[in-house]
Amino acid sequence: MATDAHDADVLIAGAGVAGLACGAALADAGFKVWVLERDALPGGRAASWPDLVTGDVVDIGPHVVLSEYRNFRALLRRLGTQEQVHWQQQPLITLLDAGRRLPVRNSRLPPPLHGLKALPAALRCMGVRDLLSNLNVAWHAARLTEEATLALDGMDALRWLRLLGVSERSIEWFWTSATMALLNVPLQHCSAAALMRVYRVMQGRSGYCFGFPKVPLAALYAPGCRARIEAAGGRVLLRTPVARVHVQDRRFRALELEDGSLLRAPAAVLALPPQALRDDFLTAPWPAASHAAHLFEPSPYVSTYLWLDRPVTRARFWARAWATRDLNTDFYVLSNIRPHTHGTLIAANAIHVRLARDWSDEQLIQRTLQEVADFSPLAGQAKLLHARVHRIPMAVPCPMPGTERARLPAETPFKGLWLAGDWTRTALPCSMESAARSAALAAEAVAGELGRPLQLALPVPDTTGVMALLRRLPPGHVVPA
Ligand SMILES: Cc1cc2nc3c(=O)[nH]c(=O)nc-3n(C[C@H](O)[C@H](O)[C@H](O)COP(=O)(O)OP(=O)(O)OC[C@H]3O[C@@H](n4cnc5c(N)ncnc54)[C@H](O)[C@@H]3O)c2cc1C
Repeated sequence: MATDAHDADVLIAGAGVAGLACGAALADAGFKVWVLERDALPGGRAASWPDLVTGDVVDIGPHVVLSEYRNFRALLRRLGTQEQVHWQQQPLITLLDAGRRLPVRNSRLPPPLHGLKALPAALRCMGVRDLLSNLNVAWHAARLTEEATLALDGMDALRWLRLLGVSERSIEWFWTSATMALLNVPLQHCSAAALMRVYRVMQGRSGYCFGFPKVPLAALYAPGCRARIEAAGGRVLLRTPVARVHVQDRRFRALELEDGSLLRAPAAVLALPPQALRDDFLTAPWPAASHAAHLFEPSPYVSTYLWLDRPVTRARFWARAWATRDLNTDFYVLSNIRPHTHGTLIAANAIHVRLARDWSDEQLIQRTLQEVADFSPLAGQAKLLHARVHRIPMAVPCPMPGTERARLPAETPFKGLWLAGDWTRTALPCSMESAARSAALAAEAVAGELGRPLQLALPVPDTTGVMALLRRLPPGHVVPA
């Protein structure tokens, strides 16, 4: 078997957000990094490419950035692309619920007062009793420690909410939609721990907002990371799948490519989805990784892009309250966000699609058009110039019960080998922020091991206001009897 001669300090498998951000951080610290990517494009689940008919660069599917994405935003600042995100201050979101447009407003008042502005929208859809039935969840979420959060991982979120006395209407209207939109999984299949992590931040912080890339998503980070890696003497090799990871005597030895060649380096980072760590991917058993590879089920998406011949709305973004009969959840008018010559370019995400995965492209396009027209009737009169359907096998690994505990840290049992990726142990839901934080944690670990310590990872945002005070009260029981 051939052994390649090269001078990389660190090999990274995977050129998604995690692999590229880790590579750029290590390159900035003076390391020579080789990034090996299976696909013809960098970016993974946050990739962009030109549509062959219109030439418009489209993303794999539309993405939002959150103001609370500390690590991802820090990456953009380092790369000089932070101004390429449009931040929508108000409304936080416009919901289309049973034909009504509900603007949900945000506030900078300290939590829990920041929720007051959203109350009118909530009270149009549920009663005061329904609303109050959530107080117990708010209390528990405010008080959860990391240990107590993990203790909830075995339970599904629907059962947990019912145990806490949340009304069925509140579950149906708020929790089902929120879980689908934020965690990409139906409530009854979601880990209670995963849901509480996200909810604690939502209820414990004020003034957050959504951001939309003003440029193609991958342009925010992929060219910048690549330039930094190359400036430090490294390389990003596309169409270069890693076939196997060689470990021996609990040490990393080499990455094997498909042609059998072995790449050796003092350190390697696997910035891959969990499914890549299947049983025979490493030359030695690693039960925790095999467990994760089998446990995490993919949340499949269908993203549909429509090109219409005329402007149909001034909105940039809206969401549909989730209902089983609907296809799409979130809608992005890209022509109102990015430079666009004429007409409308809209993209919509169908999250955790199961049945509709078997629909033809034509069925998906027609249903998406109809759902756009539900929000903006002008779309019903517009001519459809072009459409594109992206079928995405996995947008994120589903945070099902048991998965929070199965998330692995950057450190592996093998010296010289680290992990990164949105699904690793970042205490964040799978997202670009989790990928960026995992990259920072892995880069810190590698740099420390190679003798040039780095400090990069930013902590998960903590709660503020009354929610922070509640957190400081002495510990009590968390799971009700
Ligand atoms: C349609 C859609 C919408 C989304 N919306 C949002 C959103 O609004 N906000 C948000 O924050 N997140 C969103 N996400 C999730 C976000 O994109 C991911 O969490 C993030 O991009 C994951 O990055 P990663 O680097 O961890 O993994 P990946 O992007 O999966 O990167 C892994 C890379 O490894 C490569 N690879 C796999 N196997 C091998 C191998 N054997 N050898 C070499 N390379 C290999 C893959 O090709 C890939 O490029 C969305 C995802 C999708 C698809």
